[in-house]
Amino acid sequence: MIQRIDLTGRDLTSPAARRDLLATLPRAELRVDDAVRVVEPMLHQVREDGAEALRDIAERFDGVRPEHLRVPPGAIANALENLAPDVRDGLTEAIRRVREVHAAQVPAERVTEPAPGAVVRQRYVPVQRVGLYAPGGLAVYPSSVVMNVVAAQTAGVPGIALASPPQKDHGGLPHPTILAACALLGVDEVYAVGGAQAVAMFAYGAAGTAPQDGETLCEPVDVVTGPGNVYVAAAKRLVRGVVGIDAEAGPTEIAVLADRTADATHVALDLISQAEHDPMAASVLVTESVELADAVAGRLADLAAATKHSRRVATALEGPQSAVVLVDDMEAGLAVVDAYGAEHLEIQTADAPALADRVHNAGAIFVGPWSPVSLGDYLAGSNHVLPTGGTARFASALGVHSFLKPVQVIEYTRDALEQVAGHITAVAEDEDLPAHGEAVRGRFR
Ligand code: NAD
Repeated sequence: MIQRIDLTGRDLTSPAARRDLLATLPRAELRVDDAVRVVEPMLHQVREDGAEALRDIAERFDGVRPEHLRVPPGAIANALENLAPDVRDGLTEAIRRVREVHAAQVPAERVTEPAPGAVVRQRYVPVQRVGLYAPGGLAVYPSSVVMNVVAAQTAGVPGIALASPPQKDHGGLPHPTILAACALLGVDEVYAVGGAQAVAMFAYGAAGTAPQDGETLCEPVDVVTGPGNVYVAAAKRLVRGVVGIDAEAGPTEIAVLADRTADATHVALDLISQAEHDPMAASVLVTESVELADAVAGRLADLAAATKHSRRVATALEGPQSAVVLVDDMEAGLAVVDAYGAEHLEIQTADAPALADRVHNAGAIFVGPWSPVSLGDYLAGSNHVLPTGGTARFASALGVHSFLKPVQVIEYTRDALEQVAGHITAVAEDEDLPAHGEAVRGRFR
């Protein structure tokens, strides 16, 4: 049974209420700090022993010792040949839509001229090599391949490597649909490496099976992105600084803000759909309507029992991270969802578009009865790699920007420099850095 948290009769909209809300709202106890302690020696092992460490760790956690850590090209082509036509059609349409949405994210170069002859350009330059992670523990995510790869390709990244856990039922290779998605996207550098060890391989590079001969398995990358479990998140936290990372995308979360007009079955279906990811997934309904809360709880009980991954779903729905939260009205509901900062937020209310525009904190917002999170997981065109754990307060979805660096290019003429020479000298001398001023003055002697 999903827990109920009654916040009616409480002032949730005052600035002071936020701290209270953060303490009251359910949240998965994602022990990234504990996981950091677990993965730190693994990162070290990969750095020291390269391919051998990757095989040893796979044997321990994935139950298979992969023969090919770098997936042979033939296996990628075969996977596409054997892909079921309906899945191929689905992935192809997903790629088309995700490409179109991401193409619109590419920022234009900006040129400004604060004075005549004083030009500052802002150019967006793609990082040169990226390591993309597609999870493959409890479920496999070819959709995450699409989300990561399309964003990187659209940004213009020339070097793209992808890793996904080796599957013991597939000869130690990543799941065939992951490989088929790589083939559809034209990615041929693919590794059968999962979890924290994949992040380590990307961050530090990895020597091959014969390092004494200078053999390299994987060259280091500049940026690591992609969702994953707590070990992936912990590894990303540890390598941040050595490489860039996207947000720490951990176990999935859905919050639904709904009023009495919402369809209880739709709400229950969507809460279950995200609970299916992970026993640690969070499903939260925020509503002013006790009738809706009761109806959704009833539908959850029926539908969760009938779904394929019913145990995983029940664990997630009954966990401390999931709840039905009762509030007085939609203003209070907005305060709750803003404090929570859900990865996925659905708004199923009479005035959904207007409410959606007032949300500050959410990874992605799904508006109205015909925009379920599952749409965004696969086919909407938006990116499904989203910030979790409340990090939507400061982080956003993976996108083209995750792979671009704004570089400032400064070009002044002689006259334009002369015009500000006195200002530069004055400020430089005030900072007791006279050589800075001299570097300008000296040009005009
Ligand atoms: P995963 O690929 O992230 O993790 C599997 C790997 O975890 C294994 O290969 C193994 O190396 C490692 N591992 C397992 N047990 C370990 C242990 N005890 N110690 C160290 N390493 C260990 O796949 P997963 O576990 O299914 O997790 C995927 C997660 O990604 C889910 O929580 C899902 O909700 C989330 N997800 C999030 C988004 C998003 O955008 N936020 C998108 C898709 C998936």
